[in-house]
Amino acid sequence: MANKIQSIKGFYDVAPRAQKNWRYFESKCLSVFDQYGYEEIGLPIIEATELFEAGVGTHTDIVEKEMYSWTDKLNEDKLTLRPEGTAGCVRAVIQGSLTYNGPIKLFYRGPMFRHENVQKGRQRQFHQLGIESFGLTDPASDAEQIIMLSRLWKSLDLEKKIRLEINSIGDIDDRERYRKELIEYFEKNTEILDEDSKRRLHKNPMRILDSKNPHMQDMLEKAPKLIDSINEDAKKHFNSLCQILKNNQVEFKLNKRLVRGLDYYNRTVFEWITNDLGSQGTVAGGGRYDYLVERLGGKPTPACGFAIGIERIILLLEKTDFENDINSDIYIVNLGNESRDKSFTIAENLRNQNYKVTVNLDSASFKSQMKKADKSNAKFALIIGENELKNNLIQVKLIRKDGSQTEVKEKDILSFIKQNI
Ligand code: ATP
Ligand code: MG
Repeated sequence: MANKIQSIKGFYDVAPRAQKNWRYFESKCLSVFDQYGYEEIGLPIIEATELFEAGVGTHTDIVEKEMYSWTDKLNEDKLTLRPEGTAGCVRAVIQGSLTYNGPIKLFYRGPMFRHENVQKGRQRQFHQLGIESFGLTDPASDAEQIIMLSRLWKSLDLEKKIRLEINSIGDIDDRERYRKELIEYFEKNTEILDEDSKRRLHKNPMRILDSKNPHMQDMLEKAPKLIDSINEDAKKHFNSLCQILKNNQVEFKLNKRLVRGLDYYNRTVFEWITNDLGSQGTVAGGGRYDYLVERLGGKPTPACGFAIGIERIILLLEKTDFENDINSDIYIVNLGNESRDKSFTIAENLRNQNYKVTVNLDSASFKSQMKKADKSNAKFALIIGENELKNNLIQVKLIRKDGSQTEVKEKDILSFIKQNI
């Protein structure tokens, strides 16, 4: 026998059962995003490597060590499997002049790729659903995205499991000044820094604040906080965002240490966190990035966005026992070729009325087909045996109700189903 070939580490199949949860999640997202007027944009999975170097930043974890990059054999192009969606989305907006007629609100979804340590909630191919708005400066646009997410958690019945943390990291000048201040502070505490933090000290000191190392927490708590020294406009922006969240009953915690790992953020940063997934607890994160469009060659355009990690949400959904109903409405049990042909005709007629119909195709015994009908979660089992064929009848069993069986004339089947569903 040939060797069984396995999927590669960190890349997973989504089993049909789990896929149901995905579809449930996506359908909720789509209807909430529609309510707020966000439009979907489709983006490529491969981009020029320089897009991420310039966009995400060369000193971030992603660009330093997590990207799948290669040189194309045919033309030597340097290419990368996208590790995140924002850079590509910004490129598309610039390339297609999508803000030509004014601000635009977009979302995208699909796989992302990062070569990182595989653990629960941390894969090498994972999926994000991301939102980006372009051309809007008002804090109300940051607030709208957060309020929309809060509505999404509610519609998924996850609002009690996910909490919001927000912060402001000011504008470029604030960050530059703070960077110096922070390096000075860490240099005074080098004996407490771990190896990872020492490596980051001069490249990306703000990222050290994210460290989960228990030996460093005390020192990190006492580090100067960026939000305490941001400029007046940024402060106003933040206060106004907080007020709008309060007005709309969105609870949040100010986390002065929250900076996020990517280079492009300014002012608002936020994360939605759960306690149910161990240290992979961030289920969505985002913020404002007013400089990125310009940095990638576009006209200065304010922007704000976030990304949801879909697998982590699916893990949460698996822990709640909700019923999603992508089950058949009707299961047709049939015996013999003639009966199966008739079942097909009836099934097509029912599908014309938008019912979900399964016709048994495995020629199993009557008993075994009835078991399958039951397992399928369908509401009706339609039985077409020899006698029914001969007399143009169908036996209809209400398998989700009292299990009662009714003999229905074939021509009356649609109205019977309609009345009893
Ligand atoms: P983390 O701190 O968990 O590494 P991150 O800051 O790298 O997250 P972002 O780049 O902000 O994550 O991506 C947004 C969301 O995408 C995360 O909050 C998370 O839910 C999800 N995500 C990120 N990396 C992975 C991964 N390797 N596997 C699964 N989900 C991921
Ligand atoms: Mg990460």
